[in-house]
Amino acid sequence: MVGNTNILGELKGIVGDEHATSDKHIMYAYSYDMCFVPNKLPQYVAQPANVEEIVEIMKLCNKTKTPVIPVGANTNIGGLCIPKKDNTLLIDLRRLNKIIRIDEETRYAIIEPGVSHAQFAEELYKRGLRFGWPVGPPSGTVTGCAISHGISGMSGRYGLNSQMITSMEVVRPTGDVCRVGSCAIKEDSWHSFLPLPRMDGIFTGWFGTTGIVTKLAVYTPAVPPYVDVVTCSTEEIRDMYKYMLEFGRYEMADDLTAVNWWLSQVPIPYPYKEKPADQHKWNSYAVLYGYTEKELEAKVDAFHTVIKHQQELGSTVQVTEYPEEAKRGRTELPSQIVGSTKNYCKEAGGGISWPGTFTPANKWEEVYNKWEKIYKARNLSPATRITMYRGIHYGMLRAMTPINKQSPEETENAKMAIVEALGAILDAGGIPYKPPVDFNVEINKRADKGYLKLMCDIKDMIDPNGIMNPGQLLIR
Ligand SMILES: Cc1cc2nc3c(=O)[nH]c(=O)nc-3n(C[C@H](O)[C@H](O)[C@H](O)COP(=O)(O)OP(=O)(O)OC[C@H]3O[C@@H](n4cnc5c(N)ncnc54)[C@H](O)[C@@H]3O)c2cc1C
Repeated sequence: MVGNTNILGELKGIVGDEHATSDKHIMYAYSYDMCFVPNKLPQYVAQPANVEEIVEIMKLCNKTKTPVIPVGANTNIGGLCIPKKDNTLLIDLRRLNKIIRIDEETRYAIIEPGVSHAQFAEELYKRGLRFGWPVGPPSGTVTGCAISHGISGMSGRYGLNSQMITSMEVVRPTGDVCRVGSCAIKEDSWHSFLPLPRMDGIFTGWFGTTGIVTKLAVYTPAVPPYVDVVTCSTEEIRDMYKYMLEFGRYEMADDLTAVNWWLSQVPIPYPYKEKPADQHKWNSYAVLYGYTEKELEAKVDAFHTVIKHQQELGSTVQVTEYPEEAKRGRTELPSQIVGSTKNYCKEAGGGISWPGTFTPANKWEEVYNKWEKIYKARNLSPATRITMYRGIHYGMLRAMTPINKQSPEETENAKMAIVEALGAILDAGGIPYKPPVDFNVEINKRADKGYLKLMCDIKDMIDPNGIMNPGQLLIR
């Protein structure tokens, strides 16, 4: 694969010979992720070292109408960095990996887009600070996750990682550079988006279709010295929901999650396996922090009060013991233990995807019961997780779905389970997060026409040549 030798030559002129290529074996490494979206080779990969080089690249791509996709670590599992068009250039941001400033007193940090969760965690922990670590691979970038509305071990109290962003710098598709948030008004103030108009929304949740984030500032709260993980189990999703609803109202848990038996297995059983009768169907963990011992004690007391109340109401809920290793996995994020993909999909041969949605929590039971039937009918485990966000404001419902990518038939089977499950949850008001391109067919089918027109108008305004991750959102 040679591509347009002029474009490759110009890219090399911008980033240096060793940082731009069309070599097929390197294109192959960027052509896939773990989900069911079919592989496609990009035409070029460039690794710029700074904002100026990104600006030059964007100008070149506008001139030549070359499609562009920004790539952090490509650990998403929705095909978000897989080209949809021929002749695509992938801009790999790994060389922009500086932590620019950690403001220990005001508790925010400014980072470049190649900074990984592992790198950021190491520097924050030295200063007694933390961020919302996902349970994904620690190599994933903070920026790639946060601007894609990533979820973390702090989302129970603080909301999504995108809700922890305080300012950003972006190279627009045309090559113009802009800042949004307080840094737009005073160069070294990156502490807040508010009370300015929320223009960050043009760059979050758009999956690299509206610009390249080149600096990101995020809120970095202190690590409270006291931590405990309280756990319980139920036999029915309804009982688990009722417990989480009551405990969630206290808005005390950084993470309030439950997983069913299939997801708590390591790896997820593939194909479907019956749950042993002597094991609980649903297991929940709640991560509680306290700045004082008494604060933590009060939170643990509240947990026991809720359990007792639920039992009085006839719930099957009971307090359980959590293994020490699992406790570490929940509190020492980012983690090789829970972030390791083999923990999920080793039995299926290494592929994975999900119907993952933000859902009104009172729809969990109705949708999950449909999911169980859909997955069992396809001989797959309904490996499901439910999580409360921001107290009980919204909930996550997701089924981790191992995929045997060695077999086209098995891949299609898993994909169809996901698509059917997606239909059930969209009908109940769930909104898929980090959606593979196929999901957007279903989302856009249901979307308000005025909403779609607004998206198209914004996209046309900001990306007049339609070069940024074209085809990903299926609006252009
Ligand atoms: C086993 C497993 C578990 C996971 N668990 C979680 C989890 O708990 N929570 C969670 O949120 N995610 C999870 N993920 C998904 C993923 O690992 C994270 O979201 C990760 O942080 C994404 O970062 P990345 O650098 O790999 O982004 P990429 O995959 O490189 O990019 C993601 C999207 O952002 C765009 N993008 C990246 N950088 C920029 C930029 N600077 N400017 C503009 N656009 C950009 C890309 O074009 C793409 O559309 C999991 C993944 C796996 C494999």
